[in-house]
Amino acid sequence: MERGGTLARRARAPWLHSAGVADSQAHCGRGARGCPGAACSAGSRPVAGSLAPVTLRLYDTAARGLREFVPLTPGEVGIYVCGATVQSSPHIGHMRSVVAFDVLARWLGRSGLRVTMIRNVTDIDDKILAKAAAAGEPWWAWAMTHEREFRDAYDALGVLRPSYEPRATGHVPEMVELIEQLVARGHAYGVADGSVYFDVRSFPEYGALTRQRLEDLSPADDGELAGKRDPRDFALWKASKPDEPATASWSTPFGRGRPGWHLECSAMAERYLGDTFDIHGGGLDLRFPHHENEVAQSRAAGRGFARYWLHHGWVTQSGKKMSKSLGNSLLVSAILEHTRPVVLRYVLTAAHYRSMIEYSDDTLREGQAIWERLAGFVSRASERVGALNAAQVAAAELPAPFVDAMDDDLNVPAALAVVHEHVRTGNTALADADATETRAALLAVRAMLDVLGLDPGASPWVGVGADDRAGAALDALVSAELDARAAARTARDFSTADAIRDRLARAGVLVEDATDGVRWSLASEQEGTS
Ligand SMILES: [Zn+2]
Repeated sequence: MERGGTLARRARAPWLHSAGVADSQAHCGRGARGCPGAACSAGSRPVAGSLAPVTLRLYDTAARGLREFVPLTPGEVGIYVCGATVQSSPHIGHMRSVVAFDVLARWLGRSGLRVTMIRNVTDIDDKILAKAAAAGEPWWAWAMTHEREFRDAYDALGVLRPSYEPRATGHVPEMVELIEQLVARGHAYGVADGSVYFDVRSFPEYGALTRQRLEDLSPADDGELAGKRDPRDFALWKASKPDEPATASWSTPFGRGRPGWHLECSAMAERYLGDTFDIHGGGLDLRFPHHENEVAQSRAAGRGFARYWLHHGWVTQSGKKMSKSLGNSLLVSAILEHTRPVVLRYVLTAAHYRSMIEYSDDTLREGQAIWERLAGFVSRASERVGALNAAQVAAAELPAPFVDAMDDDLNVPAALAVVHEHVRTGNTALADADATETRAALLAVRAMLDVLGLDPGASPWVGVGADDRAGAALDALVSAELDARAAARTARDFSTADAIRDRLARAGVLVEDATDGVRWSLASEQEGTS
């Protein structure tokens, strides 16, 4: 007997410290991708048809090339991503960043690693103060309003929540400590007004991340100049100004002031990930000066800091980096008025994270068509062979070419080609009424799309309000009814069999006797309950 259900199984955040991942790690150091348990040899990862050794390669901006990813601590990975400066509403360019690192985190989680993802919130800076003042609002209320908008946008696009989202204003003591160490080591100095600067000439490695020579660099663009020894020195701590609100400064040994942007990330990354951590991520535009300054501060203070640097490409319009100045039509809220969130998610996921995404109305239209093809297959196949639950999707073996593509610096375009191949195979199997092949394709397609945050059968892309427990309970109850109906028919007790069918119909469950078994589905709202 086959059954079709339409309710969702909620996907599990892969970096949660779940029993599933821990169990897999117990016998498989790196592979939770359908680990076969006793059959899994140490150091190898089971994929469909092979037991190939793990080789995740990531493009490290600092090394200018692909490097095999080896976590600092076996079985774990720490990631720090520069989050939003919450000065205005989120636009599509901001979403590129979170989606890129969401796919990275999902893939590392699916590989069996316990992921700690830290994404900061810059909740105080010059622009926040200026915009809040112009709007006649307290700066902290302005920042919180926009922080909530960003969180809503991340949730709408199905981005898994990070392990922690530290705010800059909550980490002043850590910043003061770091500044004091830099001053003591001769890499920073205070000036008369109470600001503190990093002394770029004191640190010979300055410029190494972006391979620039100090003499070629322009003055630091931090709006401060007074008392700098060198115009390229950058602010670690900004003295409070008379026209700034008293709430925008903190008392420190250097005087009242507020954090420099670069310093925040060095302090917060260390607090949550330690002296040395695995991956630091951000947009291409953050390489200089932000990341160059972060690494200078942390390494000059004696820390190891990030071991791999990952930078994603931009969303462009007519080849130019998208920014708010291009207009409000690119705000996430404006796009979602006419586009389903999953289509925007698909568009942002489908390109390689290091490439540029040229954005136009056609981009969304193409994304919509492809999404419908994927979701349509999952829907038809689920009706035919029954819906799969989250545990089945999470435990499924992934096709080897998909694994190879993802291990190749997260080559999502190549990985999606494998998904499309399986959709084609699955559609052929559906047409041939081959339930075994259909189910195999459905499982592979959903498992692969789950890695990309695009599983049409899982939250949040399946019906709003769908719930694992409700779906499981309904499935069990309908199954029991259909088993009883089958038993009644076998006993030629047709009045009982018909009564069961009518009872299901009154509850809104339609039963269909097909040549290859019995299927059930929920009646549409128009069909209602009879
Ligand atoms: Zn940062």
